Amino acid sequence: MEYNFITNSPEETISLAEKIGRLLKAGDCIAYYGDLGAGKTTFTRGLAVGMGLPDEVSSPTFAIVNEYHGKDKITLYHFDMYRIGNSDELETTGFYDYPLDESVFAVEWSENIEDAFPENVIRIKISRIDDDARKITIITAEGDERFAYIGN
Ligand code: ADP
Ligand code: MG
Repeated sequence: MEYNFITNSPEETISLAEKIGRLLKAGDCIAYYGDLGAGKTTFTRGLAVGMGLPDEVSSPTFAIVNEYHGKDKITLYHFDMYRIGNSDELETTGFYDYPLDESVFAVEWSENIEDAFPENVIRIKISRIDDDARKITIITAEGDERFAYIGN
């Protein structure tokens, strides 16, 4: 399924992401596509809020991942794959050692690790319309219609 949204401020992006975050479950993997400054990190902040997690990033264990933890909440792992060139490099980051089946992944620069995603991947494309406006396209796997009723 494909869902399209326009946001007109960072706050609107966070609010949209919050609604998405509320509908996420363990095993969900979000793959972002979008240039530097598009709003991927901003969106992730909203996801964390929607998942009931603190809106602050804990110190990264690897340079490429920030972890959001909360008591009795599903953990959100936020990866930045900007510097990953191939699947061997990905292996050495420990990406595959994180427990996706019991957490949620949100991955920036997904283009660099395209083969690493599960079939149920949720693709989120963010593009800049102007300084404050963004087009956000969410593409889910066949049959995954859980975002059908979200307005922004
Ligand atoms: P990325 O992670 O994609 O590089 P960031 O989320 O770090 O992008 O930065 C996005 C920048 O764009 C922030 O400075 C944010 O304030 C700004 N911005 C302006 N309008 C929006 C919008 N509608 N949604 C998200 N960010 C926006
Ligand atoms: Mg970012």
